[in-house]
Amino acid sequence: MLGLMQNQDLSISSLIDFAQKHHGDVEIVSRRVEGDIHRSTWATIAHRARQVANGLDQWNLGSGARVATLAWNGYRHLELYFGVSSSGRVIHTINPRLHPDQIVWIANHAEDEVMCFDMSFLPIAKQIHESCTTVKHWVALCDADKLPTDTGIPGLLSYETWLGQQSTAYAWPTLDENTAACMCYTSGTTGHPKAALYSHRSTVLHAYACALPDVMCLSARDAILPVVPMFHVSAWGLPYSAAMVGAKLVFPGAALDGKSIYELLEAEKVTLAAGVPTVWQMLLAHLKTNDLRFNHLKRTVIGGSACPPAMIHAFNDLYGVEVLHAWGMTELSPLGTLSTLKNKHLSLSDEDKLKIRMKQGRAIFGLDFKIVDDNGKEQAHDGKAYGDLWVKGPWVIQEYFKQEGASPLIDGWFPTGDVATVDADGYMQITDRSKDVIKSGGEWISSIDIENIAMAHPEVLMAACIGMPHPKWDERPIVVVVVKPGAKLEREQVLSFYEGKIAKWQIPDDVVFVEAIPIGATGKMLKTKLREILSTYQLPA
Ligand code: AMP
Repeated sequence: MLGLMQNQDLSISSLIDFAQKHHGDVEIVSRRVEGDIHRSTWATIAHRARQVANGLDQWNLGSGARVATLAWNGYRHLELYFGVSSSGRVIHTINPRLHPDQIVWIANHAEDEVMCFDMSFLPIAKQIHESCTTVKHWVALCDADKLPTDTGIPGLLSYETWLGQQSTAYAWPTLDENTAACMCYTSGTTGHPKAALYSHRSTVLHAYACALPDVMCLSARDAILPVVPMFHVSAWGLPYSAAMVGAKLVFPGAALDGKSIYELLEAEKVTLAAGVPTVWQMLLAHLKTNDLRFNHLKRTVIGGSACPPAMIHAFNDLYGVEVLHAWGMTELSPLGTLSTLKNKHLSLSDEDKLKIRMKQGRAIFGLDFKIVDDNGKEQAHDGKAYGDLWVKGPWVIQEYFKQEGASPLIDGWFPTGDVATVDADGYMQITDRSKDVIKSGGEWISSIDIENIAMAHPEVLMAACIGMPHPKWDERPIVVVVVKPGAKLEREQVLSFYEGKIAKWQIPDDVVFVEAIPIGATGKMLKTKLREILSTYQLPA
């Protein structure tokens, strides 16, 4: 017997319709590439999203056609998010920090038909437009009077000219909820990047999940500032969740330095911000140098790479901001787990609470995980046993775009490539990417643990731990350190800092001081590059 309830497909258009109808006056604030602050509302975003849809219809763009963006976080990007997907096309956000050759490869692989770019990326557009063989329309995300005449890009339109020609009336089509809506390529540190293709259904379910109280706890009382780029896994789905709950959105544009972010957080009374650890490091440095405090910020979601405990401590204990440590990946839309305390933890000491907050967190309803050994056998949830982390759920990929039939799944589970432990309370902790695992004398050493300890040293700005070949132990860890500006640090001081914090045999064999650690396009440390740089390095005898 079937239930007797209405059967309504989940759709991205319902999110923007809802935000327009019930939260139409809520502000969307953007720092523009030009530097000024622009103010819009959910109602205006919805009108302009419909103009986008009419503009795409006028170009006879078919359903499923890919509309690419090379853009910072801002109101125009948000309009494209909703206008493109709600009209049945696919928004394909490209990371502009990639090498132009990679952007060309991705645009051709995705068969993008439209390319919308911020003026900061005009030099890239000029460089690549002849090689992007499927792109028929180039749109500069700027006012008509900001469009240079001599770009060499045939038919280049300003976004405002394009939109100005369109009606704000548009009836969104009724789409099957499994229709493709958004496309993101993985960082692809080896080989060509691969594309995750999210559906309306997966995007809406992911938006619900993010908003849950034990996840990001989003509501109509929040002002959300996604520092995490809209070109990196849909800014962790925040634009969709914000529409779902009617929250205010504050976009930082290209200005991601500590001072600019701090000014926006304060001026726009931001309650929740989200980003990778490297961005928060700049913000915390700005606060410390200028002896500032947060007057409105309550929570900050930190993920994308392991959040050092020293950063959690600084936010929580020095500035009264709750850190929500999150783990996810492109293939997961991206949210997988997030660390919030349970009722029984509330009476713990600050130190014990920190031990929980530094884990990557608990499962969110909808997304299941398990840790397995090399034979796929599930490992104990005792906080000690390590295993490969496998996940499944309605916002996890089934297949990569154009690799249909070559399923990455094993018995229905997606192997994440991460190695983790899970404790008795269900908190998952990433110890490594499987390719970064250090195996010394048959025992695993967590590179993240080694990095976290070094990062807690007051003179250390950044630390990366990698394994080096060793004749007796197979591999031994070394720690690569960048010291804070003006600070002085000796090898022995770093090594003695580890004493008593981890087992003796886990302490790195050496410290290598460098000016900078290579960072990839999504703000993560590039250990592959670091290994290349240290290819001639020899462990001390
Ligand atoms: P991407 O698909 O580029 O977002 O990268 C996903 C990968 O980033 C994951 O598989 C993890 O290796 C890493 N990652 C994401 N969040 C965290 C976190 N909180 N702690 C440790 N690693 C993380």
